[in-house]
Amino acid sequence: MTTLDESRRPKDALTADVAIIGFGPVGKLLAIHLGRRGHAVVVVERELGRYPLPRAVTHCSDFARILQSVGLSPDTIPEITEPYDDMYVWRNGEGETLLEVDWTGRGESSWHNTYFFHQPSLEERLDALVAELPSVRVLRGHEAGALTQNGEGAVVHIRPNAAGEETRISAAWVVGADGARQHWRAGGLVLQFLPRDPKRAQQADLDPGDAPEGVEPHSLPVDDAWREGRSLVATVQDDELIDPTVSSERLLYQLFHQRGVRVFRSRKLIAECSCSREGVAAMLGNFSQDDRDHMVENGVITVTCEFCSATYVFHPSDVASDVASDVTSDVASEEASRAES
Ligand SMILES: Cc1cc2nc3c(=O)[nH]c(=O)nc-3n(C[C@H](O)[C@H](O)[C@H](O)COP(=O)(O)OP(=O)(O)OC[C@H]3O[C@@H](n4cnc5c(N)ncnc54)[C@H](O)[C@@H]3O)c2cc1C
Repeated sequence: MTTLDESRRPKDALTADVAIIGFGPVGKLLAIHLGRRGHAVVVVERELGRYPLPRAVTHCSDFARILQSVGLSPDTIPEITEPYDDMYVWRNGEGETLLEVDWTGRGESSWHNTYFFHQPSLEERLDALVAELPSVRVLRGHEAGALTQNGEGAVVHIRPNAAGEETRISAAWVVGADGARQHWRAGGLVLQFLPRDPKRAQQADLDPGDAPEGVEPHSLPVDDAWREGRSLVATVQDDELIDPTVSSERLLYQLFHQRGVRVFRSRKLIAECSCSREGVAAMLGNFSQDDRDHMVENGVITVTCEFCSATYVFHPSDVASDVASDVTSDVASEEASRAES
């Protein structure tokens, strides 16, 4: 069997209690809190320097509290953030009011509901606080890529933007503070045993099931093909499943080329459930009248499909055994109005 070239696998170069991906305001504030508590933190940021332009221009009273928690209360940095205690009015070119937002008052924490602030200046102050923390290391100019989990935590694969080797950070925790700008990849592999011979598809009874106490658990010999398939799939590494250079076809070929691999044309995934009003009505019709009487709540029988959460509402008289699939218009319209609400 072929696996990825081991020499391509990067070695763990860094360890941390927490790895933070992204050094915007969220990553900086988290690094400050963790670093002040003595945690070993590695921050990975793809940009070499601070972004020089404001993106956020306003913040709320909750953010004022967060600033206070790191010693940067709004009233101590008036040159960076100032309260706005007025209506906020949007007007068009003719001066007509399009939208008015009430930005007056104070929040529960007593900080103002709204502040205007200069994000680059605030980030500069946060950078200075991070720089004071010996347990926080910031890797600028590095892109975080694959993220894999193991028994002890997670491993982040990082690559310098300039030429350089990929390396890994092993951390108990990894926090994505990437401003939702990262396209995360996920991968999985499902192995199914579908023998033509029904005898080979037999499965052992679930233990203990309804067997009397003391009965030996039922067992069947494991089919050789299934054993082989499982042991081959067990060799797949997490990062192979998300490696953009390893296509699904290539991975399958690597695993099963000795047996032969057949790849079917891909089909579009759609959200679909096989439940239907008629099917649910027929299922209700199979219950006894007494059982159905116990299902009535507020004058109707309501059934929710546990796969797709569709709700079907029936009048009790519509699901008598002989008229199971009839639906009265008043119940149908009630259901429609429920769906609308
Ligand atoms: C035009 C505009 C106006 C906005 N106005 C407001 C506003 O008025 N009020 C408000 O609250 N918010 C506003 N926002 C949103 C604002 O950007 C965020 O509030 C703030 O910057 C979010 O901080 P953050 O730390 O979550 O993310 P960011 O500031 O986006 O920081 C994320 C960091 O992660 C880095 N990164 C991402 N992926 C990776 C990776 N794979 N490897 C390494 N590094 C990575 C990025 O380079 C970036 O530096 C605005 C945004 C824009 C674009």
